[in-house]
Amino acid sequence: MSTGPEIARRRTFAIISHPDAGKTTLTEKLLLFAGAIQIAGSVKARKASRHATSDWMEIEKQRGISVASSVMQMEYRDCVINLLDTPGHQDFSEDTFRVLTAVDAALMVIDAANGVEAQTLRLLDVCRARGTPILTFVNKMDREVREPLELMDEIERVLGMSAVPFTWPVGMGKRFHGVYDLRRDRMRVFRAGAEHLDEVHDDIIEGLDNPVSVERFGAEYATAQGEIGLLRDASPEFDRQEFLDGKQSPLFFGSAVNNFGVREVLDALVDLAPTPGPRVAIQRSVDPAEEKFSGVVFKIQANMDPAHRDRIAFVRVCSGRFDRGMRLKVCRNGKELRPNTVVSFLSQRREIVDTAYAGDIIGIPNHGTLQLGDTLTEGEDLQFTGLPYFAPESFQAVEVADPLKIKQLRIGLQQLGEEGAIQVFKPADGSALLLGAVGQLQFEVVVHRLKTEYGVAARLAGSRYKLARWITCDDPLELRRFIDANQHRIAYDVVEAPAFMAAYESELRVAAELAPKIKFHALREHA
Ligand code: GDP
Repeated sequence: MSTGPEIARRRTFAIISHPDAGKTTLTEKLLLFAGAIQIAGSVKARKASRHATSDWMEIEKQRGISVASSVMQMEYRDCVINLLDTPGHQDFSEDTFRVLTAVDAALMVIDAANGVEAQTLRLLDVCRARGTPILTFVNKMDREVREPLELMDEIERVLGMSAVPFTWPVGMGKRFHGVYDLRRDRMRVFRAGAEHLDEVHDDIIEGLDNPVSVERFGAEYATAQGEIGLLRDASPEFDRQEFLDGKQSPLFFGSAVNNFGVREVLDALVDLAPTPGPRVAIQRSVDPAEEKFSGVVFKIQANMDPAHRDRIAFVRVCSGRFDRGMRLKVCRNGKELRPNTVVSFLSQRREIVDTAYAGDIIGIPNHGTLQLGDTLTEGEDLQFTGLPYFAPESFQAVEVADPLKIKQLRIGLQQLGEEGAIQVFKPADGSALLLGAVGQLQFEVVVHRLKTEYGVAARLAGSRYKLARWITCDDPLELRRFIDANQHRIAYDVVEAPAFMAAYESELRVAAELAPKIKFHALREHA
């Protein structure tokens, strides 16, 4: 049977936002509207765990929940929607970058009082670099927030794309009256409270110039009318291709906590977000509708059960169809894998999966066979590209008090490094292993996990390094010479890729001037 119709109904996306903008609330509401009500509780439970950032024991306890809710699959209208969660804390943004490589669209949530915030910017950079289409939801209109035109202007400036309003707010805060649907030319009247999900009870007023609205909502309505008139004259028409190319972002207003404006977003995801597209491998471009299965590991969650050293590899299905019991090839080393208990994430329960299609996410339990960036196929040699590693921004040497534990430390760090929890660098001169992180919290997590999962009491000993750049050269001999001449500044990462380590930008500049053929990279793509 052709996989075409199944693939055509897939929508795979992630929500990105600055902490507290309302990502958890919106996620919960999307699930509610899609009829997956039992989920709401676990999304909240997960959120509770996130706030206990200093209490790692608590986080450990919650990790089961976090795996279950890191991918959520739901059915809405005739579509299967895969929603991928991204970590809330900026110190784990590397994880988020990788999740963004597995989606076809992103939903950006903005707090209407704060506009586009710092953390969202970096995530947007990743979306832009990949040409990922972005939908925008401006949340918390039930509060005293910024003027919508001003917000729209900021979004356009920051995104570098035009925002095309699909809905427009009438009033805000205590005088928030609802949103005007610019496409259907009608206003949906705001009602506070969270429990109204059926359209039947919606209070709808047709037409922009309806005297009822003018009467009911007074000055706020007149303002909105004026703004909408302005927008209709000045803003570009929505063009789906422009959206798919990442040049236009459809814009929605609402209040997630009040279930308001959420349905419009869900409908837009179904109507506008792209179906799974082709993916680039080193060898060729892979079309989702190809008959043969292929997939890529974009996230690994290790040691769910410390007694068993198990890991779940999250695989985005890139083409074809996955069937239970299927034999898979790990293209990195040609090893064969025949997982029997592959899981999907339907309705929050981890369920054994029988079939999955391009766009879906499956979880493969394993004991270390699978690494980040691995490509799985039915036999063809393929390597998908694009899984980014960013040069760490802080470093710590790591030591153990008990020399008998050194081997255990290396094993633990190797595995945590493969999982992507931290980057591990082995200095070429044999000195203490270096940990590299994008955020400080990553160090704390790793020290804690080394202790609880590997029984190693590790100590962070600081490091003079502030920068790392992966080095490559078209001429292998030249690269060898550079490495030999700079032994004390070279370290190898978890896949043995060499990096140049420096304490100051100036060291990097001097090295680059002395060795013009060497290329220095702040980002390494798994390949
Ligand atoms: P996250 O950190 O982005 O996941 O944000 P949460 O979903 O946890 O929301 C942060 C806070 O904002 C919580 O206290 C929510 O109840 C609140 N919140 C979310 N949506 C709205 C909204 O539409 N209006 C108001 N007033 N508060 C909201």
